[in-house]
Amino acid sequence: MTDSPYKNLADHAPFDASPVLPTMLGGDKVIQFRCHKGVGCWNACCSNIDITLTPYDIIRLKNRLNLSSGDFLKAYTVPYEMDQDGTPGVKFRPVDGGTACRFMTPEGCAVYEDRPTACRYYPVALLSLRNQDESTDRTSYALVQERHCLGHQEPRSLSIDAYRQEQGVDVYDEKGRGWRQLVLKKKSAGPAIGKPPAVSNQLFFMASYDVDRFRAFVSSDSFNKTYDVPLEVMATLLADDEALMEFGYNFLKHALFGERFLEEREGAYEARMARLKSRAEAIRAEYEANRERLEDEKYAEPGRPGDLGCGTKDCG
Ligand code: SF4
Ligand code: SF4
Repeated sequence: MTDSPYKNLADHAPFDASPVLPTMLGGDKVIQFRCHKGVGCWNACCSNIDITLTPYDIIRLKNRLNLSSGDFLKAYTVPYEMDQDGTPGVKFRPVDGGTACRFMTPEGCAVYEDRPTACRYYPVALLSLRNQDESTDRTSYALVQERHCLGHQEPRSLSIDAYRQEQGVDVYDEKGRGWRQLVLKKKSAGPAIGKPPAVSNQLFFMASYDVDRFRAFVSSDSFNKTYDVPLEVMATLLADDEALMEFGYNFLKHALFGERFLEEREGAYEARMARLKSRAEAIRAEYEANRERLEDEKYAEPGRPGDLGCGTKDCG
């Protein structure tokens, strides 16, 4: 066994059971690590997964599997909430009744060339930080030191930057930068007052993860009646997943934070207000038409004041 400067560090971590060493590291930090098929823990990390996917991860995987984004999301992911405002995230869905990755094989990863960002980074963790008064995020790294991972004892030293390049993660980071900034911006804005409208989280989900549905949205009549997207830009968006993904990042900033990105067509605002007004009027008219029945139903709910059917035999 090789002497490693990191050997047993997990034993001395200042908080119990956390495999992440709490030191923030720069890209020039030299680590000792190598993962290869001959290592005694081969596949241990892929047997118990908790992997969050980025928009670019999903594009790479769904194209590799020749699936639509909707079919990929349904078959291979589970949704979760990233924060208290319910910002939607997606994680890999493990095998039925187990914890292993669906792409794990005895030979290793079945989608190796298109494996997600988190798999590429391991055992390094990316820390993107941003203070409320800062306009850009700061990047640093941490080392994840899990007992089962014997790669830390392999005799190879390299900097985190060199490791990221070897794993192709620098490309993934570049493609995911806009989305990470968006997520950080949402988090650094603090919790929303009241619950954010469900529609903004649905928009976030579609533009971030369901690129094929987002394409249908962007090419719809109502979108194009509202926004003035030059024809050549629209042609690129319809043909190119990655261009559409980048457009989605900017569209979300426009829609969620009012950062102007798209020109609205002349009269689009007035048309939208008119549509909202006529929808509100239709709802009011429907209520008025059914007022009597709705009032009756309201007071007929069990347990409410005015409910005669109180459920006890003695109430008269
Ligand atoms: S995608 Fe590949 S590397 Fe990532 S957890 Fe699954 S099998 Fe492992
Ligand atoms: S060395 Fe670490 S990363 Fe490689 S297979 Fe073992 S547990 Fe996974």
